[in-house]
Amino acid sequence: MNKPNHSEVIVLGLGAMGSAAAYHLARRGRRVVGIEQFTPAHDRGASHGRSRIIREAYFEHPDYVPLIQRAYELWETLQKEGGSRLLLPTGGLMIGPEDGVLVQGALTSARMHDLRHDLLRSAELRRRFGALSVDDDTVAVWEPRAGVLFPESCVLAHLRGATRSGAVLKMEERVLSWEAEGGSVQVHTDKDQYAADHLIITAGPWAGGALTHLGLPLQVERNVMYWFQPADAALFAPDRLPVYIYEYRRGAFIYGFPQVGRDGAKVAHHHSGELCAPETIRRDVSPEEVTRMRDILTHTLPGLNGELLHTATCMYTNTPDGHFIIDRHPSHANVTIACGFSGHGFKFASVVGEILAELALYGHTRHPIELFQMNRFGARA
Ligand SMILES: Cc1cc2nc3c(=O)[nH]c(=O)nc-3n(C[C@H](O)[C@H](O)[C@H](O)COP(=O)(O)OP(=O)(O)OC[C@H]3O[C@@H](n4cnc5c(N)ncnc54)[C@H](O)[C@@H]3O)c2cc1C
Repeated sequence: MNKPNHSEVIVLGLGAMGSAAAYHLARRGRRVVGIEQFTPAHDRGASHGRSRIIREAYFEHPDYVPLIQRAYELWETLQKEGGSRLLLPTGGLMIGPEDGVLVQGALTSARMHDLRHDLLRSAELRRRFGALSVDDDTVAVWEPRAGVLFPESCVLAHLRGATRSGAVLKMEERVLSWEAEGGSVQVHTDKDQYAADHLIITAGPWAGGALTHLGLPLQVERNVMYWFQPADAALFAPDRLPVYIYEYRRGAFIYGFPQVGRDGAKVAHHHSGELCAPETIRRDVSPEEVTRMRDILTHTLPGLNGELLHTATCMYTNTPDGHFIIDRHPSHANVTIACGFSGHGFKFASVVGEILAELALYGHTRHPIELFQMNRFGARA
């Protein structure tokens, strides 16, 4: 007989990654308990803000391409099951100097994996995308499969799917500590305690706190999202402007979306440089920050100069090399960790859920995750 509060797997944190892990475990018929300190699809971590880019010609590293291809399949399956829209294809533009990291990285992935793409010059960019302002020597890699994911709907779809398959989800309950001993794990929360054969830690910006003993080199970074009213809304419609990343200065990026709701078009810096902690992050946005963004838009998307309709803050959890951490705990084989998504993890959440379920249940995964090993930082075991 099962002991009370004993399950096969506990998932600590039900944001993008934890909700997906709970879903994939429950779908495999496993007894899973998910524990989340806030409400479903809340706005205090890393997985809110109405839109996320999904793209395939991955400038960060070509090894991500097979993972994103599986992620697309899984998002589409989840969308069919749940009935609400999760993904809007728009195509994507990686804009910048031809020899810059963004354009060169996207080209490398596209060529290595034989992805459909075009290299567009400035004249063509101006002709086709009226919202963009580009210098004569600016180019862009166009990719057809990129688009928008709706993050809150994605997290809710995973949570609902998990519950439908029997997962028990404890919301507004905070994990205070955990320990692994003799092939089982104990988890203490502010309300109860639980035991399981396996623990998956998907705590997002709180991961450093849940894993202090490992001394992982994680840095949490505050990032602001801005929604501006475009002067000419037609130029920002999804059939006129795809999702984009724009290297507007060497090594400095903004990214954005067409207007998908009624609240203007969203734009943001990719990496603000402002470090923070999840407990004390500054949620207000200063007038100086808004002015800085407007200055950049003058040279990149000059039509995005209308009223500022909305802002929101969100946290990146950065690793030193910008690649994820997905691995087993170095001293506890029954604890699996996924964190350090460095501001580009959301699009992969569906496949990360599958990877975490496989790692927890079988100790290995069919997916290539060598890039994400923890020992690249010499983590303490
Ligand atoms: C502004 C911004 C823009 C982004 N844009 C993109 C993009 O366009 N494309 C893309 O692919 N990625 C993007 N990302 C990155 C992506 O959103 C993140 O990598 C991803 O959401 C991380 O998910 P997570 O599950 O690790 O973290 P989270 O979603 O934050 O989940 C962690 C969860 O753990 C819970 N938790 C933590 N500690 C405890 C505890 N002790 N007890 C109980 N619960 C706990 C938290 O409450 C939280 O719900 C962006 C991120 C930001 C901030």
